[in-house]
Amino acid sequence: MDNDIPKRHVGDSPSLGSSKVDLHTHTTHSDGAYSPTALVAMAAAAGVKHLAVTDHDNLGGVAEATLAAAQHTIEIIPGIEMSADMPGGSEVHILGYYLDVDNQELQAELVRLREGREGRGYGMVQKLIALGMPISWERVLELSAGGSVGRPHVAQAMLERGYIQSSAEAFDKYIGDGGPAYVDRAKLSPAESVALIHRAGGVASFAHPIYTTDYPTVLRDLVALGLDGVESYYGHYPEADRQTLLTLADQLGIIPTGGSDYHGRPTMNDTPVGGVYVPVESVARLRAKAETYRKRIA
Ligand SMILES: [Zn+2]
Ligand SMILES: [Zn+2]
Repeated sequence: MDNDIPKRHVGDSPSLGSSKVDLHTHTTHSDGAYSPTALVAMAAAAGVKHLAVTDHDNLGGVAEATLAAAQHTIEIIPGIEMSADMPGGSEVHILGYYLDVDNQELQAELVRLREGREGRGYGMVQKLIALGMPISWERVLELSAGGSVGRPHVAQAMLERGYIQSSAEAFDKYIGDGGPAYVDRAKLSPAESVALIHRAGGVASFAHPIYTTDYPTVLRDLVALGLDGVESYYGHYPEADRQTLLTLADQLGIIPTGGSDYHGRPTMNDTPVGGVYVPVESVARLRAKAETYRKRIA
């Protein structure tokens, strides 16, 4: 999940356990609590062999993770998690894998999206000030530690000032969608996100679909747009949803992906890195698919 959809607990899933594969993790380059180096060390200790670093609208953690991985036998999969707007205003997250991190078009688009995030974060701070809850924009930037600014950083700043008792309260009362201090931001459409990922030589997967209403329909629509995979293994999926997603992936001929969505923030109800079973076969299929996009570009 992420900094933009408040997490909800949906019960422990039988897919929890140790895994050689984790295709969904965050670092300080977005709203994760740990540096890429620390994340790689944790993954290595957990026995992970294939780790995708998937920060929000940010590829900045990939290089450091790759460097850190040289000390361990871990493959770092260059990844991203992009927010996309659905018609009607709801939001979906699209994961990208095996991206060319030097792709100029992707980099330029990410800069534009991050500037949008910052403008939005600043806008929320202004609204909170107007509501009689002054928090410091500098503090919010500090909490984001140079990564993508997200609503959890605003919530944390509010918590520090004692305006709220928990991060969830910030979302419920003020900065959740439609709240009095909420500010919208520019996002890509799912079609644009998928196409951008493909043009950067990457493979696109639908992140945590169960947080989306009527996800089987949305998934079919996304596959029609060229989506390659769906996050079928995830920490708190009920077993029935996991089965539904695996069946859908099979029927639609797309790749089942999965991961912990580790942020290292206890308040986000995280699964530990490497804590969700994902088959190694998924990694091979993602790599092979990325190969076909790379050939198309070349
Ligand atoms: Zn995530
Ligand atoms: Zn997410």
